[in-house]
Amino acid sequence: MALAQAIKYASNNDDSRTVQHAADLIFEIGLALGADSKRDDAGLPLGFLDEAAEIIERVADRIDNNGWSICPCGEEHGQSDADQRVPDVMRGDAELIRKIRAQADG
Ligand SMILES: [Zn+2]
Repeated sequence: MALAQAIKYASNNDDSRTVQHAADLIFEIGLALGADSKRDDAGLPLGFLDEAAEIIERVADRIDNNGWSICPCGEEHGQSDADQRVPDVMRGDAELIRKIRAQADG
């Protein structure tokens, strides 16, 4: 899940606020899904989806523009490749979340 990826990046790049926020969202979304799992019209509070997409896009921007790395240890061991691929994947996930959200809204 893209939020877990966002947490990994944020924690490896000392952004504890984003870590906290994304972790809260995973918890809240998990809670909402769990509570509604017996119903067909499982309702996920749409605000959570907006927040998730925003966090994911923000982390993707940090990787692209602020040099965030999945491992900023200073030694190259393949993380540059990952850091190049991940932002696109994350933006794709954020886009998907926004699509789900738009459908749920309509
Ligand atoms: Zn490393």
